[in-house]
Amino acid sequence: MEHVDRCPLCASPHQTLFEEIHDAHGRVTYYLCRGCGLVYQSPRMDAGELERFYGHEYRPFVQATDEPTTKDLQVQAARARTALEMVRPASLRVTRHLDVGSSSGAVLLRFREAYGCASVGIEPGETYRRFSQSQGLTVYPSLDSLRRAGEGRFDLVSLLHVLEHLPDPIGTLKQLRDAWMTPGAILLVEVPNLVEHEGLERAHLFAFTAATLRETVRQAGFRVSWTRSHGGFRSPILKLYATLLARAEPAPVRPLRVRSTPFGIKFWRRLGKAKRRFFTRHFPDWTWQSPENAPKSSSL
Ligand SMILES: [Zn+2]
Repeated sequence: MEHVDRCPLCASPHQTLFEEIHDAHGRVTYYLCRGCGLVYQSPRMDAGELERFYGHEYRPFVQATDEPTTKDLQVQAARARTALEMVRPASLRVTRHLDVGSSSGAVLLRFREAYGCASVGIEPGETYRRFSQSQGLTVYPSLDSLRRAGEGRFDLVSLLHVLEHLPDPIGTLKQLRDAWMTPGAILLVEVPNLVEHEGLERAHLFAFTAATLRETVRQAGFRVSWTRSHGGFRSPILKLYATLLARAEPAPVRPLRVRSTPFGIKFWRRLGKAKRRFFTRHFPDWTWQSPENAPKSSSL
């Protein structure tokens, strides 16, 4: 395990305890940066532990089996459909799409169908990688293997429910921009929204709000086109997710812009929890729909 002594977003050493959760492996602790409001896990798995975790242990940990389950495939398909609906109005021209953390390949397949693009994935989990390869997709276990294979750059890179799992989100986004994206390429990111999603679990090293997600992407040198909080296919009421569209521009890193204070984040989290409790009790059908019951066209 490793401790995080400085905020990965603003480098402030000033942190305050945010929340603790308990799972089968023990306690998981999150801190809130007093400088910028980022919420991050500490202590957390180190690089070797993360590699083992995502290679073999992650899926059995979250769904009791290594194999893709029907439920998980439905969730991924519904999530891919929602992401495409959000991106469609931007009338993008996509020729090469890289999905990082491509899992079953649902996002790659959906976007390929919409844009007729070439599709490449990165998925460290062996079973899911093989599953997506069996559907005719090109999927590598890591960025290193992508390089060894001599793949070229991409004009769309997506990370859906991935950034919160990475030990160095800004570093990874910079690496993607500098080595793998064409100038002006599109970046699509989605994360659980800390304000209204439970969001905290051992695999989530970070818990973003729309504001800290936007700042993280800006610090990696992207120009953010929009950020939206929404319920996806899950809920027409709760803003469970934050989705962001940005462009890889040859711009220097901008000064940090902090819009949400640490006090504000605790306040909105408390309000979000109260809202979730109220609607779960009185309007359960609107709070966490299963993918097969979700409307085909979500009300975003
Ligand atoms: Zn900070």
